[in-house]
Amino acid sequence: MKKTVILFLLMCGGTAYAQTVLRPLPYAADALEPVMSRETLEYHHGKHVQTYVDNINRLVPGTLFAGRSMEYISKYADGAIFNNGAQIYNHQLFFDGFAPESIARQIPAGPLLAAIICDFGTFENFRKEFTASASNLFGSGWTWLSVDPSGKLHIASYPNAGNPLKEGNTPLVGFDIWEHSYYIDYRNKKADYLKNLWRIVDWKVVESRYENR
Ligand code: MN
Repeated sequence: MKKTVILFLLMCGGTAYAQTVLRPLPYAADALEPVMSRETLEYHHGKHVQTYVDNINRLVPGTLFAGRSMEYISKYADGAIFNNGAQIYNHQLFFDGFAPESIARQIPAGPLLAAIICDFGTFENFRKEFTASASNLFGSGWTWLSVDPSGKLHIASYPNAGNPLKEGNTPLVGFDIWEHSYYIDYRNKKADYLKNLWRIVDWKVVESRYENR
């Protein structure tokens, strides 16, 4: 009886939700050089993503999305809450999917490699199709490799904060196509940014997303 009362009080407590915090990078700020400079990471992670975190902490109290994960917000929210929550989710996958060039495993293996060969012919062809999708995205957005509930892989680009969660797919690799992610290091040379990003994608991380979905 006592337990029920305590639970009820907790449920009705209202606003004591944990704040969303900026997740630290899993490597030093200069660890991805020369593909991504310390300056880019300090602005991109330290300023842009921090702003999305500050915004979500301002926007969700008192809404149905208070205390919810960024994955849940990506699936069910729209407007400003979706924009900021999905950007936090997208950037976590983006930054967590990289490793310093010297230790990143740049080629997939195991069941994920088998799925890539099944759906795209070769790994090289997959990279070509993914890069073409990213090159053709006009304006700010994201290009994603995702897996649908049947196990089929998909490449698609989305404007703004878009990701494949609303379609029921699990995102595996996301490339940030906002200019803030490459303008310091590459200026207007988006093609060079896209080509170089493959050097720091750590397929060990991507495989674990694929296998644990
Ligand atoms: Mn970004």
